[in-house]
Amino acid sequence: MGLVIEAQNLTHNYPDGSTAIRDVTLSIEDGEQVAVIGANGSGKSTLQLVLGGLIAPSAGTVRYFEETENAEAVRDRVGVLLQDPNDYLFNTTIREDIEYGPAQLGIPQQAATQRVEELATDLCLHDLLDRPPFRLSGGEKQRAAIASVLAFEPEVLLLDEPFGAVDAHYRERIRKLVTNHKGTVVLFTPSLEHIPELAKRVILIGKDGSTVADGTVRDILTNKSLLAENGLRPPAMVQLFEGILDQGELPLTIEDARQYLLNERE
Ligand code: ADP
Ligand code: MG
Repeated sequence: MGLVIEAQNLTHNYPDGSTAIRDVTLSIEDGEQVAVIGANGSGKSTLQLVLGGLIAPSAGTVRYFEETENAEAVRDRVGVLLQDPNDYLFNTTIREDIEYGPAQLGIPQQAATQRVEELATDLCLHDLLDRPPFRLSGGEKQRAAIASVLAFEPEVLLLDEPFGAVDAHYRERIRKLVTNHKGTVVLFTPSLEHIPELAKRVILIGKDGSTVADGTVRDILTNKSLLAENGLRPPAMVQLFEGILDQGELPLTIEDARQYLLNERE
């Protein structure tokens, strides 16, 4: 165990003077699954870029793996899936994009090829591997970008809206890959529907770019007024059962709701 990320008083101002994140302090422990939620424009992607070491904060510090700031540790051990897959795919073919990370880390060719094969199977990329990135659809690009982040098996995954463009079938496949990941996962998303299946802790970013809450998935996703104040709504199942269910825990997922209804029928 230990802390994989410790951010202290992070603020980031873009060159036009706008403040995207404001005095954010947070720690992520090894092996945690955390969702960072917030409305559009609340600063999730900016926070991801700062935590991923891709932009320097205007103020504040980030420590990784309980060491002092270490750019190499971040590059080798933290996988950053950017919100726009176009920022990720820059080689001549998708295969080269996916092999790029393992090659940078000096992973032997044979192991890298095997890893690419496995990911191509998991994400149905075989027919796309020899194509250039610009010949792919949005969802295909997103699958390829996820494969290229997972290819070098980073200990920490920072995933910005990994389901943005993919259909339900691939959402499920990506969900499985993420839940099977053996390290730490931080998911940045404005959609609360899939959080109960992917995270245990939720950090809520307010519209001004500051952290307004940090708690369990249940505490935050059932707090309708807190979510509303910050431009968000609870998952559909919570909205549906609120006011109907007068005792017990509100169901967070379809599966919770199904269990509740089956129990009621007995
Ligand atoms: P989110 O991912 O939560 O939607 P972002 O981190 O993308 O939020 O953006 C936070 C704020 O910073 C927004 O107000 C956005 O308009 C602004 N912003 C994002 N990128 C830039 C940029 N490159 N230059 C100036 N402002 C930006
Ligand atoms: Mg974003």
